[in-house]
Amino acid sequence: MDINVDFLVSGCNTQCRHCYVNGGPGPLMQTDDALACIEKLDQIAAFLPKGTSFTLDHEPMNHPEIGKILYAASHTKHITNYHHGMTTGLGLMSRSDKEAVIQSYLENGYNEFGITLHGVSSHHDEIVNRKGAFDKAIAAARFLSKMGCWVQISLMVNRFFAEDADQVSRLIDDIKADDIYFAIPIFTPHANMMRFEPYRATLEAFEAIRRYLSKWGQDAEEILERAQQNSVGRAEEKLQNIELHSLWKKKQDTLYLSLHQDCMLYVGNSGVETQVLGDLRKLEPEMAAEVIRNLPGNSDYSAFYDIENLPGMENIRETIKALPQDLVYGDFPSILYRTFVSLDIPTKLLSRI
Ligand code: SF4
Repeated sequence: MDINVDFLVSGCNTQCRHCYVNGGPGPLMQTDDALACIEKLDQIAAFLPKGTSFTLDHEPMNHPEIGKILYAASHTKHITNYHHGMTTGLGLMSRSDKEAVIQSYLENGYNEFGITLHGVSSHHDEIVNRKGAFDKAIAAARFLSKMGCWVQISLMVNRFFAEDADQVSRLIDDIKADDIYFAIPIFTPHANMMRFEPYRATLEAFEAIRRYLSKWGQDAEEILERAQQNSVGRAEEKLQNIELHSLWKKKQDTLYLSLHQDCMLYVGNSGVETQVLGDLRKLEPEMAAEVIRNLPGNSDYSAFYDIENLPGMENIRETIKALPQDLVYGDFPSILYRTFVSLDIPTKLLSRI
């Protein structure tokens, strides 16, 4: 079993419509707490499978003492810091010590960073719910590149891409990113998710960007085929071969936990927590590891629903038919979870954290 702890060091500055985060750079984990939590996770990981990791999240660059935290995170014995490097740029670009911050990352072995683009300036800012976010993301990409970092651009496709592709393409040429990839938001069971649905890409948006894909280093046929495969219109045929109850009982090989800024450890990725394990600072390592080892995996979000509350297949089919057939999701289970919202199926999420 792979285990990852989403370690929330400091808040994110944006409020992306597909995310549960409600914006603002706080709350912040105190530096002493962050160091104590890294040490405790390392002790616990000594009793967990090899490869257990944590990820400093949401926007670590908002933390005033991120350098100390990165040093501790890169000097563990049993657990590794999985660094994804994605940043909005808002925290970094407002710091007077931004060179020193990036220098700390580099000195501790983290040289990969990325920004996400949701289209041109006005559309990007609308989706992330923060005016000026686009400009800061672009400024951060240029700054990181200048500092010698490897910079990636994630294009999070939405329905604006049909009209924005040309400008986005020129921008990509200008930034000269080291890598570009595509993302389509999956549908997760958190309460904010429906905010993104009016922006969700359709097959038409993918057709409109077809001519840019090879220029962006992508395999156009593969991307368009994947979009087709994960469109609502194709969900019904996939349902023919699925028995929901056995799908739900399938063993999952990844377990996500989250550690909040108040040091409380939860089962479930951040935003979709199902169980409190306690204050990490006070947990006894061997006992905590035993509890964690016995938890079932929760990577595909089926763990967030009760098998007994699942709707019948006929209900699901009818509800899927009523959704716009050209909408594209990140994966097939997303379409099921979107359907469950229409069917009002309750989750096992903690209602208030
Ligand atoms: S998706 Fe990422 S950048 Fe957007 S609000 Fe959530 S944590 Fe912040």
